[in-house]
Amino acid sequence: MEKLKNCPICTSEESRLFLQCKDYTVSQKVFDIVECSACGFKYTNPRPKPEELGKYYESEEYISHSGTKKGLIYKAYHIARNYTLSKKFTLINKNQPKNLLDIGCGTGEFLNYCKQKGLNTTGVEPGEKARNFATFEYSLTVFDEDFLKNTDKKFDVITMWHVLEHVPFLQQRMEELYALLSDDGALYIAVPNCESYDASYYGKYWAAYDVPRHLYHFTKKDISSLAEKNNFIVEKIFPMKLDSFYVSMLSEKYKSGKINYFNAFIIGLKSNLKAGKDNYSSLIYLLKKRK
Ligand SMILES: [Zn+2]
Repeated sequence: MEKLKNCPICTSEESRLFLQCKDYTVSQKVFDIVECSACGFKYTNPRPKPEELGKYYESEEYISHSGTKKGLIYKAYHIARNYTLSKKFTLINKNQPKNLLDIGCGTGEFLNYCKQKGLNTTGVEPGEKARNFATFEYSLTVFDEDFLKNTDKKFDVITMWHVLEHVPFLQQRMEELYALLSDDGALYIAVPNCESYDASYYGKYWAAYDVPRHLYHFTKKDISSLAEKNNFIVEKIFPMKLDSFYVSMLSEKYKSGKINYFNAFIIGLKSNLKAGKDNYSSLIYLLKKRK
């Protein structure tokens, strides 16, 4: 384990305990989420060292990186994912980009979708199993994370779908992103929103806290600060309306040991209805370089 001395966004040394959450999927251990006293950013601290993080992903339950299809919750996840693929593509294809870099591409479904639509695609994925799957199953070009600091290629679109909250070196990653993005390029970052209704309803059972895999728990304000600090601006925010249902199902399971599908549906729906303009369970941020 390692304990961060400074806030990963504003570098303040002051923080207070915000919430204690259990890792329900792998270790069953409890982790602290602290809140920066200066800027309010919430992050998991202490957290596993970068080299220890791998073992917290070693679970069949951790479905974002595997292809298991058993049980209703997995089916729901996969149906939602396929629907989301076309939504995501429509979003990133607005300005007809040529080169796409998807960081944390997992088993490559989104990249494969975009490749079939004619985009030049490159993927980066730290997990070896997922990387090999994407390479051999879909014949995609997928590198490990070293690619990010070693390449001098530029990309018109970079996507990170529920990935930034997993990245141990946040500031370094933001600098890499700036270097990798073409001057007029678009950077899409999707992360859970810990200010959403489902987050406050489920509290420490909220599945998108997902400690210790989620190292950061972003709000809109945090993403704005992080963008500004790194010469980006947040140009637009898009909702991910299916996430509230999926996250509520998992949260129900963590809260009571089994899923109350009815309640999960109601909370998911309520979260979307209460979200107003942009307070959904998960949000996609479109970042551009500041001119
Ligand atoms: Zn801070």
